[in-house]
This record gives sequence, C-alpha cells and structure tokens, in this order.
Amino acid sequence: DGSGKGAALITAVARQHHREIDKYLYSMRFSDETLRDIMSRFRMEMEKGLGRDTNPTATVKMLPTFVRSIPDGSEKGDFIALDLGGSNFRILRVKVSHEKKQTVQMESQNYETPEDIIHGSGSRLFDHVAECLGDFMEKQNIKDKKLPVGFTFSFPCAHTKLDEAVLLTWTKRFKASGVEGMDVVKLLNKAIKKRGDYDADIMAVVNDTVGTMMTCGFDDQRCEVGIIIGTGTNACYMEELRHIDMVEGDEGRMCINTEWGAFGDDGMLEDIRTEFDREIDRGSLNPGKQLFEKMVSGMYMGELVRLILVKMAKEGLLFEGRITPELLTKGKFETKHISAIEKTKEGLTKAKEILTRLGVEPSADDCIAVQHVCAIVSFRSANLIAATLGAILARLKDNKNIPRLRTTVGIDGSLYKMHPQYSRRLHKTVRRLVPECDVRFLLSESGSGKGAALVTAWASRLADQTRQ
Ligand code: BGC
Ligand code: MG
Repeated sequence: DGSGKGAALITAVARQHHREIDKYLYSMRFSDETLRDIMSRFRMEMEKGLGRDTNPTATVKMLPTFVRSIPDGSEKGDFIALDLGGSNFRILRVKVSHEKKQTVQMESQNYETPEDIIHGSGSRLFDHVAECLGDFMEKQNIKDKKLPVGFTFSFPCAHTKLDEAVLLTWTKRFKASGVEGMDVVKLLNKAIKKRGDYDADIMAVVNDTVGTMMTCGFDDQRCEVGIIIGTGTNACYMEELRHIDMVEGDEGRMCINTEWGAFGDDGMLEDIRTEFDREIDRGSLNPGKQLFEKMVSGMYMGELVRLILVKMAKEGLLFEGRITPELLTKGKFETKHISAIEKTKEGLTKAKEILTRLGVEPSADDCIAVQHVCAIVSFRSANLIAATLGAILARLKDNKNIPRLRTTVGIDGSLYKMHPQYSRRLHKTVRRLVPECDVRFLLSESGSGKGAALVTAWASRLADQTRQ
C-alpha cells in the first residue's frame, strides 16, 4: 500500500462519508436564502419587542437598559465590579484614572458558585455573593470604604433606572428560588446589610452584553453593538429613543438588551429546529424557553453533538454501532471538545482521544466523520448568529438613514474565543448577509467587568451632579 495511493483512498472514503453525513444532517445546513429569511424574521421580532402594544406578547423582549451613551473618555474613579452569570463568578477592582490619557487598572478574583447554591434558595445565593464581596474587600484592604459597585448580571432584567433590575427569568444553569420578579439590587443590599461588616453602594446593574459593548467602546468610539457567544448568547445595541415606546423621550439613544436567546419561543423557528434541538429542550432546566440560545450557545452545543452521535451509532453509521454508557451520559461530550476536534492540525488526534475516552473505539473514519458532525453543528451556530446580528446591523443602518454603515461590534464569550474556526466563519457570513455594512469585530480582552465599572463611573458622576 503506497502512501500516496492510501491517502487518496482515505480521502475518497472520507468524501463519501462526508456526503452521507451532509445528507443525514441536511436540516442543519442553511442556504444564504434561509439565513436572509431568518434575518428578516428577527427584524420583525425586534420591532415587536420595541412597540408598546406588541411588547407584552413579544418573545424577544428588547429591554431598555438605561445606559445612554458609550464611554466618552472622561470617566474616572475607583470601583468594584461584580460579574455573575457567565462561566465564572468574578469580582474586580477597577481604577480609572486621568493622567494625560485615560487608563484603567484592574485586579480580579474568581469565586466558585457551587451547583447547590445556584439551584438553592435566592437568599443563599445572595448571601454567597455578599460573602465573596466581603472576602474581596478584605483582601483589597477596602472594607472600611464605601466604593461604588457595578453589577454585571447576565440574565434578562427589567429596568426602570440603572440601579434597579427585576429578574424576569433565570436562564442557562441558574435556577435559585424566589429571585424571579425581584429587584436584584434590593436582594444584594439586603444580604450585605445582614452581614453588617462592610458597606457597598450598588450604582448600576448591566447585562454582560452591555458591559462588553462598554468595554470595547472604551477603545473604539464606534462600538454600538455588544454580543456574547458563550455559555449563553445575547446582544445589545444602541437604539434611537424615539423608537423605544417603553421609555419616555425622543432625543438621543439608549442601549437595548435584545435577549435574542428567546428568539423562537413563540414557534417562529419551528421549521429549522431539529429532533436534536427538541430533545435538548426537553432535558433542560427551562423547557420551551431560550430556544434560539439552545441551538447556538456553548452550554448546549456539545450535548447536541452527543445526541447526533448516539443516533448515528444506533443506526450503525458510526463506531460499528458500538454504544457505551459514557456515550449515553448527558454532558459527557462538551463544547470544548468540539473546539479541540475542529483544530486544523491536531483535530483528528483530539477526536481519537476524546472518543476513546467515551469507550467507542473509533476508527480513523469515525474520527473524520465526528469532526464533520462537529463542523456542521458549530457552523450552524455561527450562521444563525450571523443572521440575527445581520438584522441588528441592518436596523442600525436604517436608523441612521445612510447607504453604508461603518460600525464596531464588541464580542465576548467562551465559544467565540475558544473555538478555532468560529470567529472567522461568523465574520465571513455577516459580511455576506449585510454587504452594505463595514463591520469591525472587536474582542473584549478584559471581559465585561471593565464596562460595568465605566457605567458605574458615569452613574456615580451623575449622582454627584444631582446631589450638588
Ligand atoms: C441571558 C442573557 C445573557 C446571555 C449571555 C442569556 O442566557 O438571558 O441575559 O446576556 O445569556 O450571558
Ligand atoms: Mg420613546
């Protein structure tokens, strides 16, 4: 078996295999026509969420954030930022100073949020947050100070002002009781008061998308969109106040938290959801909710692949039909495994390792096939996000009534950052779907905490002004 001929043979077999999988996962691959259709559906959902009469029944909530501008470079001070709801619970100290130029200095610490706390009672969850904050202030030697606190809280909240945020519904892995319908600022203040060993002044609650937009806006004034593609997914953008029926006033802009994860909760995406998506939903903490999020985000993508592999193995299309208890265990195949398997150079070796750990004794062909399944699932995610992001960009362009939009999108999230091909695919599809927009994608290097501090800086300055 000469190596050249052998390789050619493997490629031919692989190509055949790819075709079979393509056919098998046909409903996960979208034409640009379908993507444009999804884009226009999402545009309609955005309008529905913004309108006074249609908002109550809208699934995409388009929540006003009471953040009215991106950083203007004049913010300063010493702040604490809490970041809860992403893959880590983090507390940061952020110092924004103004020598010749605005500079930001940050120190941070990650804290655990054990399962029993995020699924327990709300008061325990906030006691835990207050305890970690106390620990952090102790270590920073600032327990005697009353520093302004900015709270990045990565869940859908209704605001009537910056420092009031009523949790509408938990998403992702969180499900603490007695918090939905409550103001999280009040809950946290109560937990801090109860301790009595330090004081804190919670000035602002921001969604992680808003924090990301602000963080990126600090470096690029053109940034007017923030998106997260991580455990969950969501986007915010700057909307004209005259289009926001739920908020008084017509002048200027306000950041809207779209909560696009809920796109499809009213059945709008039924034609593109697959049996695998339905199974994921059935086994989730919040059945019937966040249906778009469940098709695209990091918390679910690995599990989607696992369900596909199980079905293919059952039908004898993979692993010579071998099915192991590991392969059948929920959560055993993670999104980070997709990222490893899709690496250009070591991907197949990784596939071999990961599948071997699942006990399925993969052949070389199996590894190639699984790599292809991963690519289809992660491609679908990037394509769907490109469609919803495209809708936001097209709306921004129409709002400004200009023929070409030049703008910056701030992005963060573990999936976007860790997956080797994701960002490139997303950028490419967005540029194809909205060719009239020149988009710069800016990775938020320092997370959303810095952004929360900038919003807090702005809020505390405002508070000072009103006090005077
Ligand atoms: C939440 C959003 C959040 C996103 C990313 C979603 O599940 O509903 O508020 O921005 O996850 O963390
Ligand atoms: Mg208005």
